[in-house]
Amino acid sequence: MRGPADFSRLAAAGVRGLQPYVPGKPVAELEREFGVSDVLKLASNENPLGPPKESLEAIRVALRGVALYPDGSCYEIKRALAAKLAIPPECITLGNGSNEVLSLIAETFLGPGDEAVYSEFGFVVYALAVQATGATPRVAPANGEQDSQPLGHCLEAFSSLTNARTRLVFIANPNNPTGTWLEPAVLRGFIGSLPDHVLVVVDEAYREYMHPDSCPDTLDWLAECPNLILSRTFSKLYGLAGLRVGYAISHPEVAELLNRVRQPFNVNALAQVAAIAALDATDHVRRSQDLNRAGVAQLQAGLVGLGWSVPASAGNFVLADTGGPAAPWNEGLLQAGIIVRPVASYGLPRHLRITAGLPEQNERLLQALRILRERGVGA
Ligand SMILES: *Cc1c(COP(=O)(O)O)cnc(C)c1O
Repeated sequence: MRGPADFSRLAAAGVRGLQPYVPGKPVAELEREFGVSDVLKLASNENPLGPPKESLEAIRVALRGVALYPDGSCYEIKRALAAKLAIPPECITLGNGSNEVLSLIAETFLGPGDEAVYSEFGFVVYALAVQATGATPRVAPANGEQDSQPLGHCLEAFSSLTNARTRLVFIANPNNPTGTWLEPAVLRGFIGSLPDHVLVVVDEAYREYMHPDSCPDTLDWLAECPNLILSRTFSKLYGLAGLRVGYAISHPEVAELLNRVRQPFNVNALAQVAAIAALDATDHVRRSQDLNRAGVAQLQAGLVGLGWSVPASAGNFVLADTGGPAAPWNEGLLQAGIIVRPVASYGLPRHLRITAGLPEQNERLLQALRILRERGVGA
């Protein structure tokens, strides 16, 4: 009888070396495993205010239409985005979350023999998307812990790994899981320095949380930098992670190439109407931003009070250095019904990534950590 190892040998070369993406632990799973209820999830950078009411209303109306295929061209959502961002709709490619956008870009521009560059502590999906194509990943060492952007992107390292085989460079700004960001002029200079055969993906999943002074006008750069691809999402600030909508903004010819690989109905009908409605939910957006600013500050102050090191974050989460192994803290939190994100898989075994929640949720987390400390965790 043939063993399962045979199938592994049949898989494409790029797939053989892959480790599957490990998402934040779902609430229901923790309830099953630990027999707890009232679970608090601060693990996946979701919006604690939930979806905009405008989106919920749009979904209610659209529910009646789900027997029909969605608009495969995403005409209305492209039109709405184009109007809001003042760009031509031909520059936009919708994806099933920006995760799919990142995979589409990799599939379109990479094959065996090509190379792609991303940071040591960059978003893990870049590694998966690149390796699945059989291309060669080039991992740029990150900034040191003492840098003003600890563990953040070191663009000199990116440059030194770029060569004639490089096709793609992935930069998250702000980055997950580090929360670090790049100064606009520095990022613009780097993009301008890349040769014509390299496309650069700037992943702006947390863009809307940035301080206005450090938020780059990346849309303005597209005309001067035809090789720039922006990736954005409705999953974070817009509170629609469960519906899966993200998009790329690129040169129209790049969009046309991505469209060849894209599955015909990749964004479902409810997601399309919800995303369009979310673009008008200005009040929800402002409240989410304000809440986040306060939440990140609350987490920072509370965690520093525990003696942890918590660098500034431009996202809706912090990356906290517990000063020792993070696993006992994580275990204690799970027993208290609180899910955060251990990042040992990124090579950061002392750190926890924690999403900013509502004030009372942040306080519950901090209180649980204080109790764990009293019980000797981390001593
Ligand atoms: C959460 C996240 C995304 C968005 O994922 P979606 O597929 O759009 O839900 C993309 N990039 C980074 C860096 C992220 O953290």
